[in-house]
Amino acid sequence: MAPVSPLVAETEAIVKQFEYTDEDVNRGVKEFLRQMNEGLEKDGTSLAQIPTYVTGVPNGTEKGLYMAVDLGGTNFRVCSVKLNGDGTFNITSAKVAVPKHLMVAKTAQELFAFLALQIKKFLEKHHGDHFEAHIRRRMTVSSPDGYKDEHAFRMGFTFSFPVQQMGINKGTLIRWTKGFDIPDAVGKDVCALLQDEIDRLQLPVKVAALVNDTVGTLMAHSYGAPGTHGAVLGAIFGTGTNGAYLEKLSNLKKPLVGDYDKSTGDMVINIEWGSFDNQLNVLPQTPWDTALNQQSVNPGFQMYEKLVSGMFLGEILRLAINDLMKNPRISFFRDDNSSTNDLRSTTDIAETSPIYKQWAVDSTILSVAAGDHTPELSLLRKELDDSLQIHAAAREDAQAFQAIAAAIGTRAARLSAVAIAAVVLKTGKLTDPAYEGQPIDIGVDGSLVEHYPYFRGTIQKALECVEGIGKEGADRIRIGLAEDGSGVGAALIALVAAGMEKHSTNEEYIGELRETAKTAASADNEKATTD
Ligand code: ADP
Ligand code: MG
Repeated sequence: MAPVSPLVAETEAIVKQFEYTDEDVNRGVKEFLRQMNEGLEKDGTSLAQIPTYVTGVPNGTEKGLYMAVDLGGTNFRVCSVKLNGDGTFNITSAKVAVPKHLMVAKTAQELFAFLALQIKKFLEKHHGDHFEAHIRRRMTVSSPDGYKDEHAFRMGFTFSFPVQQMGINKGTLIRWTKGFDIPDAVGKDVCALLQDEIDRLQLPVKVAALVNDTVGTLMAHSYGAPGTHGAVLGAIFGTGTNGAYLEKLSNLKKPLVGDYDKSTGDMVINIEWGSFDNQLNVLPQTPWDTALNQQSVNPGFQMYEKLVSGMFLGEILRLAINDLMKNPRISFFRDDNSSTNDLRSTTDIAETSPIYKQWAVDSTILSVAAGDHTPELSLLRKELDDSLQIHAAAREDAQAFQAIAAAIGTRAARLSAVAIAAVVLKTGKLTDPAYEGQPIDIGVDGSLVEHYPYFRGTIQKALECVEGIGKEGADRIRIGLAEDGSGVGAALIALVAAGMEKHSTNEEYIGELRETAKTAASADNEKATTD
């Protein structure tokens, strides 16, 4: 056997620190369950377990046009979801990146004014008729109590930050995450903030429902999923990570402030699992994780998210790679002359390379690394060249980069399995006779889970080692992408909320809603997208 090269040995030493064993997974699941229960009992715990007031409250309409907006962390999406009433469903959507300076704006108004403006542009572009009719009506109405618009679009507002929800369209921001930091907004009702800016632009839109993206994903996947039971979990792996599931009201021990429908006996809980184990009872911490946390805007918070989600994986990789570059025992991304480089050139890194800049390495490169099966790693080397300005990287160096990226991605997926396993066990569905022999559906959304190769496969494999799940249980757990989950989900919740304005409870309605969303899934191919 050939001796191991110093580079391979040093790479191995880094990779080893990202190992997250089966035993670690099991310890993680037990602690996750403990923290879930704690969060159901009282406030101020690491897992906030936030009641969402979504209990499946019915209305009676399944026809009409609903709007949905989604402030995710990286992008702002605006869409309209049209329920045709004849069983079809169309989605039109637009997406814009949130400018960095608005994420840390002085006032909440600056950010929300930008959001309202995007809604205006969307309406003008895609719903010009409706928009103009509204303006005409507004100009001709002169009632003493002002202009009341039943024709206004009902909109679901997906706001994926921790919110203390007070009702279906009311909730105050607890804290920012994912790099946002606008202290002025904390403690304010985010629906009111958005409605104020919408009104300032005189748009025919009413913020009807406040939706967490996890809840939207759960709703959309539940109603759309084939089979008799809905999804047990909606989960996000995008800029951040989080999950929502249906909990029995009897398990919810802490007091609820707002009104809600008690007839279903259930309530959707927003776990806010990005904060799992902030106290670091069980979470792993490499020196790079520790450094990342210390340099973040919220040290000590979102500790699980910092190991798992898209916003952080690129930075963990960047920090580890920088250490390897500084390692005096090897010459990584450095060669003295072209004889040591299979490209017959010498590696050269631009001074302005993102590799030298905090937060500048996008986690997309982990996906490229994981997906490159070419013998010369030509895809990854091209990406190193294009996006990191690391020119003419040697194959050995690209291999080291790939191994470390894989270690970070694999750990993220195995940690994701911890949350998923805990929720599945918490719901008891694996042993529920009503579910016997049936799949346990989990809806997921977010660029990381969508694009990182094998992310779901790695989760699935890790689930097999969990006590109480095993191979047999893992085979029943079906992790499916809830495409357009937040859009369709938010529209569905807006529809429920709009119904609550006019109707009292109507049992048949849930069934209709289910039908509508099933059609939504099948009408996927006819959606118009302006992304
Ligand atoms: P949001 O969180 O705003 O809803 P997304 O679900 O699109 O948006 O997630 C964006 C995050 O996903 C960013 O952190 C980005 O770096 C990461 N990301 C985007 N594409 C990929 C990819 N191909 N592989 C891994 N991560 C990705
Ligand atoms: Mg999102």
